[in-house]
Amino acid sequence: MRVLVTNDDGIYAPGIAILAVSLAEAGHEPVVVAPDRERSSVGHAITLTRPLKLQKIGSGPYPESVTAYACDGTPSDCVVLGLEEIAPDIEVVFSGINRGPNVGDDLTYSGTVSAAMEGLVFGRTSAAFSLNVHGDGEEPHYETAGAFAVHLLEWLERHPLSKGVLLNVNVPNLPLSLIKGVQVTRKGVRTYEGKINRLQDPHGRTYYWVAGRPEDEMVEGTDVWAVAHGYISVTPVHLDMTHYPSMEALSGQGLAEIDLEG
Ligand code: MN
Repeated sequence: MRVLVTNDDGIYAPGIAILAVSLAEAGHEPVVVAPDRERSSVGHAITLTRPLKLQKIGSGPYPESVTAYACDGTPSDCVVLGLEEIAPDIEVVFSGINRGPNVGDDLTYSGTVSAAMEGLVFGRTSAAFSLNVHGDGEEPHYETAGAFAVHLLEWLERHPLSKGVLLNVNVPNLPLSLIKGVQVTRKGVRTYEGKINRLQDPHGRTYYWVAGRPEDEMVEGTDVWAVAHGYISVTPVHLDMTHYPSMEALSGQGLAEIDLEG
């Protein structure tokens, strides 16, 4: 199968190269269109205020059989250009493998997940892959996520997803032999403590750095629980963010009857 491969860590990140190589080695045809630099946490942004360029990558981490383009835009720009310009016949968009998990509310910030959302906007079968690796001291097992991506692609050929649904996949940072299995999960809750760091520059002026320590609500059945317990987490995500029960509640409370003249 032909697969559009993108990410938010940038085209030279090891995760995307391992995803593309895993697909190619399994006999599929990955076409890589990815940001030319790291664009983590840019969410679903697209670039409207300046032109975009695509540059074919002749070497680097990709084997000769893989076509790869770097783009100076966001992950969602890459998906638009990939599907409109490079390979309009591609039916599948895979994003990742992200360095670090995208669990809980991460998925609203994540460029990795947003690229899959853009694939969905274009009506393609879409999935995002993230590895639960933290910091530089940990050896990343991208190959585990790459192997699962191949299985998932072949599974998706036989089991098409419902309209408007993508898969958000989080993989424990373990060798494949230590993975306990696959769990279908719901989005959990992850908050960040101490999000704003107030620091001083060499001139004594205050500056701010957004970071924070993740705090997870460890509830069984969620993405945060599954990856923490050695399972590959697969969360079906729908783009319709409407909260339907509130529509009825707000109507019942007379929101639509507010007297605008009063
Ligand atoms: Mn990233």
